[in-house]
Amino acid sequence: MIAAFGRSLIVRGSDGVSQRARPPGRTRGRSLDIVCGDSVTCRRDAPTGEVHVTALLPRATVLYRSTGRGGAESVAANLDLLVVVLAPLPQPDFFIADRYLCAAACAGLQAQIVLNKQDLQTDPDIDVELAAYVQLDYPVLRCETRSPNGSAALAASLHGRTATLVGQSGVGKSSLIATLAIDADEIVTAQLARDDEGRHTTTAARLYDCRGGGSLIDSPGVRDYAPAIDHLDPRSLGFLEVEALAPGCKFQDCRHMSEPRCAVRAAVDAGTMHARRYESYRRLRRLYEELGAVRGPR
Ligand code: GDP
Ligand code: ZN
Repeated sequence: MIAAFGRSLIVRGSDGVSQRARPPGRTRGRSLDIVCGDSVTCRRDAPTGEVHVTALLPRATVLYRSTGRGGAESVAANLDLLVVVLAPLPQPDFFIADRYLCAAACAGLQAQIVLNKQDLQTDPDIDVELAAYVQLDYPVLRCETRSPNGSAALAASLHGRTATLVGQSGVGKSSLIATLAIDADEIVTAQLARDDEGRHTTTAARLYDCRGGGSLIDSPGVRDYAPAIDHLDPRSLGFLEVEALAPGCKFQDCRHMSEPRCAVRAAVDAGTMHARRYESYRRLRRLYEELGAVRGPR
């Protein structure tokens, strides 16, 4: 499924041809939740020629966002890569960046960081934080959308992968998509121009093919989504260094908060785990436990 708007979908067949399709009706009272990137099977109605989605195929990966009421909903499927976009302006919130990286780890996606707006002066503190991510083996790329080759590194990194860009509003996600995406699928463009009632649509979720290969999923629900906390790994919450250190903790179910002989806290004290990342871990742990307390045992 490569685009969704209102109650309509656009699917692309194995022949590469895109067409409008109707989502399936409700089964057992629940409507099938199909998102961009999903693989589906379809059937064509002989008399009308209408295409109907009949089934959702198993997903390799799913990205969930928080609905704000403690629930979770899927926003994109079969992604390989989550790209966290930062910029000198608006000032980065590294706690939010960490939450995205955690969501990626727990969803089985690779993750990388892009510092956009390279043409603006970067605060040295930002470079310090980026160096900490490099230490954790997160690729850190630098881009700018205002020069012709400014996003070449990002374009190359998308080759052969399905990715999505996430990050605070104003960091330049739309601008990056505009420079990376090939907007050549005329069928999709024409279909998206008008919805069922003939109105122009503005809130479509969409998969774009990219220059240099690969694809990007963009949707209003993904760009600055809040990751669903209850899909995080309970032990590390998706912090890679915590996951690596946790086997050294005295207690197997250590929360790495105030437990004795905690290998994570020892690493922070010794300066081998970045103190700001640990603070970020503590904030996310508190959110995770607050949510658990509201929800009760699962
Ligand atoms: P989004 O909210 O993340 O989608 O961000 P936009 O793509 O809408 O960009 C926000 C603002 O940043 C716009 O005014 C862009 O023109 C500007 N912008 C985007 N990329 C760059 C860049 O590389 N350098 C500079 N200086 N500004 C940029
Ligand atoms: Zn511990």
